[in-house]
Amino acid sequence: MIPCIDEAMRIEEETGSLLNDKFEFINHDIRNPFDISCDLIINLACPASPVKYQEDKVFTAETCALGIINVCNNATKYNSHIIHASTSEVYGDPLVNPQSEDYFGNVNINGIRSCYDEGKRCAETLFMDYKREHDLDIRIVRIFNTYGPNMTKNDGRVISNFILQALNNENITIYGDGLQTRSFQYIDDLIEGMIKMMHSNFVGPVNLGNPVELSMKDLANKIIKITNAQIEAIEREYYQRYNSGITQWQQNQY
Ligand code: UDP
Repeated sequence: MIPCIDEAMRIEEETGSLLNDKFEFINHDIRNPFDISCDLIINLACPASPVKYQEDKVFTAETCALGIINVCNNATKYNSHIIHASTSEVYGDPLVNPQSEDYFGNVNINGIRSCYDEGKRCAETLFMDYKREHDLDIRIVRIFNTYGPNMTKNDGRVISNFILQALNNENITIYGDGLQTRSFQYIDDLIEGMIKMMHSNFVGPVNLGNPVELSMKDLANKIIKITNAQIEAIEREYYQRYNSGITQWQQNQY
């Protein structure tokens, strides 16, 4: 049996696709302590879509930082192994491409994405400190953009937005000029990487992603071609909520 802790806000969205007899859902907010005997904890907590994690920024930062403390305290009590899902966002708006794990990043401390970026950085710091002080058996993976079945339609991230627009025969909206790049990995590859990490003795952090970068313009055209949709990719004003570094919008704010 795999107990899966989630809090009510997201459990309603996810139970439909995940419910099966191997999972026991526990309706609990990871920002509060919990007590569950287990061999292994996989800490995936925290919304990862910019649209979602910016809806309640304090919740996002708390889920990362308080969440990892509660995970580590439970693991210390039951001597559990832990694998923690960190993110490529710990590199912020990187000045080097591709990023290797020893790159410290270029992170905006007080921007609108900072609740997630800094929250995840803080989680890694706490995680390593718990390891040093309590000798926990930990693994850290830094997950890059991932896609696959069971993403929610209103996830807000680029892959599901573009596919939905194409299937609905609506023009694909690219934020900005579409020259910004991302790399995308398929969910099965991510899971394989995480399982390999669990079976290794390497603490990490390890980047898990696809080394090939793709511009959002190319992605849009790829999806138009695959779906054979009679639509076009159009540029839309760069959403301020997507800004990651010191951008024009943020410069105007400070
Ligand atoms: N994006 C876009 N249209 C959309 C959603 C996202 O052009 O409908 C762009 C967004 O501006 C960003 C990239 O796609 O440059 C990836 O955004 P996403 O939210 O998927 O993930 P991120 O890597 O920014 O966390």
